[in-house]
Amino acid sequence: MPKQFGPEYVRAIAPYQAGKPIAEVAREFGLDEASIVKLASNENPFGVPESSKQAMAAAVADLGRYPDANGFELKAALAARYDVPADWITLGNGSNDILEIAAHAFVQGGQSVVYSQYSFAVYALATQGVGARAIVVPARDYGHDLDAMAAAIDADTRLLFIANPNNPTGTFIGAAAIEAFLQRVPSHVVVVLDEAYNEFLAPDDQFESAQWVRKYPNLVVSRTFSKAYGLAGLRVGFAIAQPPLTDLMNRIRQPFNVNSLAQAAAIAALNDRAFLEQGARNNAAGYQQFVEAFDALGLEYVPSHGNFVLVRVGADDQAGARVNLALLKQGVIVRPVGNYGLPQWLRISIGLPQENAVFLAALTTALA
Ligand SMILES: *Cc1c(COP(=O)(O)O)cnc(C)c1O
Repeated sequence: MPKQFGPEYVRAIAPYQAGKPIAEVAREFGLDEASIVKLASNENPFGVPESSKQAMAAAVADLGRYPDANGFELKAALAARYDVPADWITLGNGSNDILEIAAHAFVQGGQSVVYSQYSFAVYALATQGVGARAIVVPARDYGHDLDAMAAAIDADTRLLFIANPNNPTGTFIGAAAIEAFLQRVPSHVVVVLDEAYNEFLAPDDQFESAQWVRKYPNLVVSRTFSKAYGLAGLRVGFAIAQPPLTDLMNRIRQPFNVNSLAQAAAIAALNDRAFLEQGARNNAAGYQQFVEAFDALGLEYVPSHGNFVLVRVGADDQAGARVNLALLKQGVIVRPVGNYGLPQWLRISIGLPQENAVFLAALTTALA
């Protein structure tokens, strides 16, 4: 009889470390919840769009019924926005769900999955969750080394993850480099292009990756409503891919993985251009506020294309944890990234100007 429950590959999983909830920090440090600033999970500082709140209020009346398992209206809205057929879309309970679904749909135990060092933690979890072998490719300048990733693909590889922009480092790869990479990847290897921060890209960096799906039958583009659209708590994401991939993902997907309120809110947010523009403006200004302060404090940071910045707060491997604790005591929650192998760094989400100022003052105190 086995001595422990579960397969070895499940026991080997290191649980995901989420940003600390405000209520927990208030309890632990004896602080007033209202005074706490949370810049830890790359959420939208404006919260839920008004348009989504209204759509949810209207949808409450039908909560006694199951959600639309096929997400007909949301898929129709997405199909129109991205100019793809509705049956090229898979809905996810957040895009996290999409990443898990892709692993379950395309990989079996013993096969391999390629992703980059310092890329999103969920790639490791999804890989381990199906008993697959991870091929972690060393980063270049804190970002993806696409040449090395292409070279790392082996005979067992079935899936490859790219985060663009990447979390937690904020690095970005331009359209030409991604497309050159897609042309090199063997056609039986599925590439998940995770674009959770796409909406924050400067206009010059934007490109229609959704249209590449027409050209590359092995490409899955993954997006989310959690970041720019302000719906992190509702859990809605989606994937765009050709029918052979989409069909498999929909077999693995739980039938009701996106609830009714989330579907209604997402449709409203998708059509709320003003909300996105407000968020983008705030993000660009907040980024300037951060990097000017980091420059003044002499702190190294990785230039970011997302709604967060990775900053080095010390030269020893306790620095991240130490400065994080000093910030928590002042009621500021940010994200330590020691679990990513970056113990000297912290990741700070860009908030409202006042929240950014509170963080920067607390950081200055913490470093003094
Ligand atoms: C936040 C994030 C996601 C997932 O967010 P969901 O809330 O699950 O949609 C996916 N990829 C990256 C790189 C992220 O940072």
